Amino acid sequence: MSTEKSSRGYLASCLTCRCPRCREGKLFQGPVSIKPKNNLAMNRQCPVCGQPTEIEVGFYYGTSYVSYALSVAISVASLIAWWVIIGLSVYDNRFVYWLIFNAVLLIASQPWLMRLSRSFWISWFVKYDPDWQAHQPEDFSERLNADQGANW
Ligand SMILES: [Zn+2]
Repeated sequence: MSTEKSSRGYLASCLTCRCPRCREGKLFQGPVSIKPKNNLAMNRQCPVCGQPTEIEVGFYYGTSYVSYALSVAISVASLIAWWVIIGLSVYDNRFVYWLIFNAVLLIASQPWLMRLSRSFWISWFVKYDPDWQAHQPEDFSERLNADQGANW
């Protein structure tokens, strides 16, 4: 295994769904999928540094807030883009068309939003450790309950 530090910065690591501790290992098992269950299938541990990806029971419940914030940000961006490119007026239905467009956009981006939410969420609880090879990941096993694992 290489001893070089990860070249990824914080944002690149989050956006590519990497383990926040080593910024190398992938959080998710496979590529983005349309099936919610496959899409959110995570590696139990980071395949590179061994960081557990679920650090307590119900750890990812809070991601709905992250997903909500990302959805609002996308909606604002799409409204501004619509306003600049297509325009808005009170005299026709362009705003309604934007609403429909935005709804489709948000639904279509769900697989990515759900992953990004988890990626950002875990990055706020697990710190980047440039010397991860020299340390063990923090032991969270007492906060976990096998029966409640991935309990959704
Ligand atoms: Zn890792």
